[in-house]
Amino acid sequence: MSFKATNGSVEPIISSPVEDNVASLADLSPHDKPWDKHRNNADTVENYYAGSEFYKYSDRIADCSQFLDFRLVPNSSEGDYKLKLSSARFCKVRHCPICQWRRSLMWKAKAYKIIPKVLAAYPKSRWLFVTLTARNCAITDLRETLKSMNKAFERLADLKSFPAEGYIKTTEVTRGKNPPGSAHPHFHILMMVKPSYFGANYLSQAKWVEMWRNSLRVDYKPIMDVQALKPQDSLVGLLAEIIKYSVKESDLTADREWFLELTRQLHRTKAIALGCVLRDYMKELEQEPEDLIGKDDEGEELIDEGKLYFQWRKKYKKYILME
Ligand SMILES: [Zn+2]
Repeated sequence: MSFKATNGSVEPIISSPVEDNVASLADLSPHDKPWDKHRNNADTVENYYAGSEFYKYSDRIADCSQFLDFRLVPNSSEGDYKLKLSSARFCKVRHCPICQWRRSLMWKAKAYKIIPKVLAAYPKSRWLFVTLTARNCAITDLRETLKSMNKAFERLADLKSFPAEGYIKTTEVTRGKNPPGSAHPHFHILMMVKPSYFGANYLSQAKWVEMWRNSLRVDYKPIMDVQALKPQDSLVGLLAEIIKYSVKESDLTADREWFLELTRQLHRTKAIALGCVLRDYMKELEQEPEDLIGKDDEGEELIDEGKLYFQWRKKYKKYILME
């Protein structure tokens, strides 16, 4: 933007529509493109909360990440520079799409540090990836349904034949298609098992279903899935995948009533649970990360002139460079 002096006052010259000449964060840093999508979804969630009993969440999300302060830092691999977030304000509302995304990045970073320690301590261990489901429930019954599923999981874990030496269990809720507007709660569990699981202590899929059905105390066959991880499977990647979110963004933003009820139903419920020997290694994953910025441990050389500020502009659905 440039300025001209007229009649003693200074006015900006707006030479062309702002759409034509703005520099956006996504243009300047393709790596930071996801910001636009997540902040746009945050606008939707902010509107959903407005005028509800959660209007305070709406206010907080409205202030979340409106301004982003980036620095230029050397990009060691390519010998040039890249943008790195140096400060922003986060609302930390549980279902804020921006904060949920930042949290998942921090958890992923933690997973990268934790997993090698676990593998070093239990080099012979093998891993199973288990998904446990129950029948879809009305969104208004979600809290009770999760309560009984958690009870059922405790029963399962108490069985003599339960093979896990340690596990991490996360709860995910998706919008159920049948009936429309219902909720589909399910557990993802990474289990560490002894090598003998693949010998004398092996459990067939049918045996797993029977164990889960008895634990759930239902008369139908619940859908569940058990996969053995192969050595080449990335445990970190899988862990990052299951701790990513409890409700995906497309489900958060699909329907206001469903979303408000989800907020009521999930209030003060836990998304991550740890079992047995993994507890000490992974308890950090249960806690809200302090740092949603993502500072590197090693000091980075910051270039003082290299500060760039971006502001969220609802109208363009983009973060725009401020001059
Ligand atoms: Zn937020």
